[in-house]
Amino acid sequence: MSLASGIEWLQLWERAVPWAPHRRRRELLAWAGAQGGPPPAQLPVGRANALLLRLHVAMFGPRIDCSATCPACAEALELEIDAGDLLGWEPPPLAGPALFQDAEWGMSFRLPTELDVEVTRNERDPRVARNLLLQRCVSECRRGAEPVDILLAPPEVTTRLGARMEELDPLAVIDFELRCRGCGHGRSSSLEVDSILWARLDAWARRMLDEVHELARVYGWTERDIVAMSPWKRLVYLDLVAR
Ligand SMILES: [Zn+2]
Repeated sequence: MSLASGIEWLQLWERAVPWAPHRRRRELLAWAGAQGGPPPAQLPVGRANALLLRLHVAMFGPRIDCSATCPACAEALELEIDAGDLLGWEPPPLAGPALFQDAEWGMSFRLPTELDVEVTRNERDPRVARNLLLQRCVSECRRGAEPVDILLAPPEVTTRLGARMEELDPLAVIDFELRCRGCGHGRSSSLEVDSILWARLDAWARRMLDEVHELARVYGWTERDIVAMSPWKRLVYLDLVAR
């Protein structure tokens, strides 16, 4: 890790630590997207997740450990997921609006983005949130040749449209199943990439501050100097301090 990255990681952590999870996601995405590409708010949710997965790989490697407790027998459930494998599911970006045809209903749509999710997040009524999302994402809706408001389309049609959106953005919702070795109970769960990445960064930052505290107290070095050290050099000094 270079000087810039260690210091910058700590700054990222400091900026994000007071925020609620959705704001942290935004901070992490802004950081991940700072290297160029479209602004993260305009990315489909799955592409934003891919950006966070790549950040996880760059900062902490590809291994993601998931754990939970079996609801049936309370045994610890663990699963190792490879971020590289997940990134293999990322399809090429859509070149323009996608088309959906369901019997007489035809639609042009784009995939829901981070911004769409942000706009609908505070809507308590799931039906209102769903309608808002449809209005934002569907640019054209026709019944036969006649243009129609998307909200007039039957729910079963918009449900199938939603399924098509998920198909086209497979990393938007990353489901996996944990099966208990003790009792065989299966439990499906979704991988929250931002929470996973945040947990790793938070653990790293707290460990780093602990090390800074130990070394600064004994040697009087600055935080910057200590963070800039290679991890192995820091470890040698920490060993010396512990003697
Ligand atoms: Zn169990």
